[in-house]
Amino acid sequence: MTNIEQNLKNIRENIAVAAQKYGRDLNLITLVAVSKNHSIEAIKAAAKAEQKDFGENRIQEAIPKIAALKTHNLTWHFIGRIQSNKAKLIAQNFDWVHSVTRTDIATLLNTHRPANLPPLNICIQMNLDAEESKDGIALDEIAPLIQIIAKLPNLKFKGLMIIPAPNKDFDQQFQTFKKLTDAAESLQPGLQLSMGMSDDYTAAIAAGATIIRIGTAIFGERYS
Ligand SMILES: *Cc1c(COP(=O)(O)O)cnc(C)c1O
Repeated sequence: MTNIEQNLKNIRENIAVAAQKYGRDLNLITLVAVSKNHSIEAIKAAAKAEQKDFGENRIQEAIPKIAALKTHNLTWHFIGRIQSNKAKLIAQNFDWVHSVTRTDIATLLNTHRPANLPPLNICIQMNLDAEESKDGIALDEIAPLIQIIAKLPNLKFKGLMIIPAPNKDFDQQFQTFKKLTDAAESLQPGLQLSMGMSDDYTAAIAAGATIIRIGTAIFGERYS
């Protein structure tokens, strides 16, 4: 068994244990394997181990991977910062976008979504710490953006996403994720919560994550 297969097995076990421990329905937690800076071969190894959802954060890197893996029927999640001149390629190639923060970007994604594809699934990226260095918008900016996205026929608003500042403390990780869960509940029921990475996914599951995005713990360290 390759490392990737073994790592995936371990993570799936950990997710199941966490779901059990925190009273979550395992079927409502999707694992996105973040394959940025990792090869097509690495993605193939994960796909062979029945991993379906993959995350990429740079469009130039993602396009050849998506093209090469067309026949594998994978689901692709864009999780990086979106420049307006890249919105078209994102709309053409991805199934999900987790990192929408602006109306103009949402409009561009809608315009460029090909008519033969289903609506592009959208999460809005939030920033709860109001750290200027990080992407994401504040709670009071979310509702107007949701209203605009709801009117765009080629987009489907799904939920909220967050990348908290790294924190080693489980309780603090949990508190931050819980804020996103509470924010989502105050907006509308049944939203997806895209939160939790290699170092904090257990706390994210405890707090209600429905999509966790894991790179290093599946594929190993990134060297670039
Ligand atoms: C890189 C990345 C991840 C995965 O991080 P790991 O710590 O390697 O699991 C998750 N989400 C986003 C937005 C990322 O850019």
